[in-house]
Amino acid sequence: MERKILDKIKEGLARAPRSVDKWHVSDLLYPRKAYFGRIDPQPMTDRQALYFLAGRAHHGILEYCLGPKKEKEDGRADSGEFQRHGIYYSPDLRMPYPWEIKSTRSQYEPKKGQEAERYKDYLRQLHMYQAFDEQDNGGLLLFYLGLKQGRRYLPEIRFYKVQLDKKERAKIVKDSKKLAADLSNVVKTKDHSGLPLCPSYQCGDCPWLKKCEPWKQDPKRKDLQEAA
Ligand code: SF4
Repeated sequence: MERKILDKIKEGLARAPRSVDKWHVSDLLYPRKAYFGRIDPQPMTDRQALYFLAGRAHHGILEYCLGPKKEKEDGRADSGEFQRHGIYYSPDLRMPYPWEIKSTRSQYEPKKGQEAERYKDYLRQLHMYQAFDEQDNGGLLLFYLGLKQGRRYLPEIRFYKVQLDKKERAKIVKDSKKLAADLSNVVKTKDHSGLPLCPSYQCGDCPWLKKCEPWKQDPKRKDLQEAA
């Protein structure tokens, strides 16, 4: 029965394959994974399916509670899909500036002043939404599933208002367009060596580890070579 349930979850969460020359903000966050995902798609693992299930459920409820209540024809819980500069993006909410919602299993908050470093991957995504929407403001809503408080682990939310100026937004647009062009080029040349690496914690269970060979660009990842 557990096998059947997992298979049903995967069936329900399966998305249509993305076309090779249509790049989304999520692709630009991890370009190597985006490239391999297009040329060598892999089935979702059981673990990935369960992570998606938890994430999608939290997102869906928060978007429903916080977003506009009108019935949407496309059935999407987020604000919809948009396209600027040839790149697709879907902010979780527009309030009216873009918001990104993240749920996290982290038990500890960053110390004061270390938020930007801890949340840098979340912020890269939100910054792209701000840049494409031409908005100086952005919102990062974090749902901590269990923050350590004394002996207990309790759910909490945190909200950060994030600001960019016009110059910062212009640089993000320029860099994003270049990365999307590089990705399209790599799909043709099949030489991924110039694409930025994903964070090292993602390599361990990456299905493309052998093909990617991240240790060639980052010698600190040499130990992954033996595991591959
Ligand atoms: S092996 Fe690491 S760098 Fe390469 S695609 Fe996978 S996660 Fe990204």
